[in-house]
Amino acid sequence: MTLLLTHPDADRHENPPGHPEQVARLEAVRAALDGMDLTRESPQEAPDAALLRCHPQRYLDALAAAQPAEGWAQLDADTSLSPGSLRAARLAAGAALRAVDAVVEGDARNAFVAMRPPGHHAETETPMGFCLFGTVAIAAKHALDHHGLGRVAVVDFDVHHGNGTQDLLWDEPRSLFVSTHQSPLWPGTGAAGETGAHDNVMNVPLPPNSDGRVFRARMQDDILPRLNAFAPDLVLVSAGFDAHADDPLAQLTWTTEDFVWVTERLCDLAHAHAGGRLVSCLEGGYDLDALADAAGAHVDVLRRRENG
Ligand code: ZN
Repeated sequence: MTLLLTHPDADRHENPPGHPEQVARLEAVRAALDGMDLTRESPQEAPDAALLRCHPQRYLDALAAAQPAEGWAQLDADTSLSPGSLRAARLAAGAALRAVDAVVEGDARNAFVAMRPPGHHAETETPMGFCLFGTVAIAAKHALDHHGLGRVAVVDFDVHHGNGTQDLLWDEPRSLFVSTHQSPLWPGTGAAGETGAHDNVMNVPLPPNSDGRVFRARMQDDILPRLNAFAPDLVLVSAGFDAHADDPLAQLTWTTEDFVWVTERLCDLAHAHAGGRLVSCLEGGYDLDALADAAGAHVDVLRRRENG
């Protein structure tokens, strides 16, 4: 059983007109998944206790105070709050929590969280890069602290470095965070020398214009051996689709087949060590057609591979 978590109130997080992280992104993803054989659920908002594993109370208070009654509150040059943003961000985190509950408790083998805003750039006390809460890190901490899992891998193939997830899991020896990303590219972090407080972070920067063959080679030679040695009890995925050749924000040239390939390898990893337990959370992807095509293919692999 592959579980799909989405909620219409994700659309209440609106960015100013012309912003690439737009309501239409999730509409495109939902349309691509429409009719696919999935179990569908609506999530609830993440409780404070789950958010507080990653963000301090003063950060939750500051966001609540900043949320406008109408229009937008600009948090930095490209991150803003609209009246429905915190509801959407809490639902996104809540969806990831429910996805973890479902795969750990056996209600589903794997799950896809089709929500926005994305999360992997949100640091402990700093919203940035269109992100408010560190959704995938919050899910990792929930799996470790609430469910008592021993080891959680977080694999981030978004074209941008997952600086927020890295920040939130930097000192968490029960997690291994692996990020592939274009470099140089915003946010500028993610050098190979950034390895975490416990050698629990692996960064694999990829040069601009490199294609899926370069990515697959690094996966085969470096990343998958490391992930297999870690032997995770759960695989979390920060699934950004902005490394696609058609994406307007970056210069990698992956195809939908590359996203299919990496999803197959991550299912292999989950089946080898974690009983198939895998939770994938939508991050970036800004060309609507490429996003729909790649995300649809990604979820179709999850559906086909739920049993091995
Ligand atoms: Zn991205």
